[in-house]
Amino acid sequence: MRKLGMVAAATLALLGTTAYAKTTIVYAGRVITDAGKPAQGPSTVTITDDRITSIVPGRTEAPAGAEIVDLGDKTLLPGLVDLHVHLTGDPGEDYRAATVDPDEWGVVVGAKNAAITLRAGFTTVREAGSAQYTAYALRRGTTNGFIEGPRIVAAGPALSIIGGHGDVTGFREDVHDVLDQGYTCTGALECAEKVRKASRAGADVIKITATGGVLSQQGRGLEGHFTSPELQSIADTAHSLGLKVMAHAHGAGGITASAAAGIDSIEHGTFADDATLKVMKAKGTYLVPTLMAFEGIRERLGKGIYTPTVENKVRMTLNDVGKAVTRAKALGVPVAFGTDAGVFEHGRNGQEFALLVKHGLTPREALASATTVAAKLLSLENEIGRIAPGMSADMIAVSGDPLTDVTVLEKVDWVMARGRIAD
Ligand SMILES: [Zn+2]
Repeated sequence: MRKLGMVAAATLALLGTTAYAKTTIVYAGRVITDAGKPAQGPSTVTITDDRITSIVPGRTEAPAGAEIVDLGDKTLLPGLVDLHVHLTGDPGEDYRAATVDPDEWGVVVGAKNAAITLRAGFTTVREAGSAQYTAYALRRGTTNGFIEGPRIVAAGPALSIIGGHGDVTGFREDVHDVLDQGYTCTGALECAEKVRKASRAGADVIKITATGGVLSQQGRGLEGHFTSPELQSIADTAHSLGLKVMAHAHGAGGITASAAAGIDSIEHGTFADDATLKVMKAKGTYLVPTLMAFEGIRERLGKGIYTPTVENKVRMTLNDVGKAVTRAKALGVPVAFGTDAGVFEHGRNGQEFALLVKHGLTPREALASATTVAAKLLSLENEIGRIAPGMSADMIAVSGDPLTDVTVLEKVDWVMARGRIAD
């Protein structure tokens, strides 16, 4: 029975690549194949099923039966990557909703936000923490095309200390027990266990909350939470399973300890000073600044949306937002694009580009942060981030030139993800 099934699957695969291959021809006036290279003039890109198969200068004739997309004088470029989104949530939600809404509701919210994110030009996102296993259901839905959305690299629930940013906080102890997601840990041994549990559940990446965070009800500031042996255990265990670790971190001490332990990327990195960034540089740690998160928070401050505990922490951060980006660039720490969408409205992800430029990146560096640099952090550099034969057909088109004005990336006119055109 099993053998027959395999034969049928092999036959189908063969038919898929030969008899039923779908060809799409895209004409564009300007093409940025790689954020590190000059743009090309009018070009023809051929897509076979979900792969880019050729890119040639000029306008070549389309083969019979091919779907033709004429983008006129628009600029075609690689699909964008946002390394830090929370698809299953919308901004300003009352934290007490956790006691009312079932996790399944997060999948519905996430399906809505996945489509919005894709239409904003983001063909790959890293889901940076969501209720239990909702992100894995979304990942499966966008992979098989049941729902419209980007490729999702999913963390699932974040590892946290008890009472930390990734734990449930702000309720009675007995309510905490009911809402516990099973991913807090104490000591190197238990932290290793939780990494393996996340891996078994389906995590593509391990998310941890290495320091206090702004929008949770934990009231002990923004410095380091895990001990160095715990961080070391998390990094080593994840790496032994072929997984990277992304650490939410604000305070300099917590960032330094995370980088020293070999954590792969620091998310937010708000108070990273030169000494901290030098450790990141030495260890090859990426900075994912999420400047848009603070825009979202700023817009909601003082309106009775956040609790006093949260408002206190917001006020600690706002004067320092963006400084780490400028320092990181000066010290050669790679800056990769992430926004924290969900803290602000999904779909505004592209507004991060202007903030990165405001804090010192060139437009070319900002575009690289969301394409080639992000792809490298995901270990997907041979799959996404460039337009080249053999790469996944993830491309977008905008009016104007993003290498001179990044704000053109805030309004994306056309999107193809894994060979499928978003409508
Ligand atoms: Zn986040």
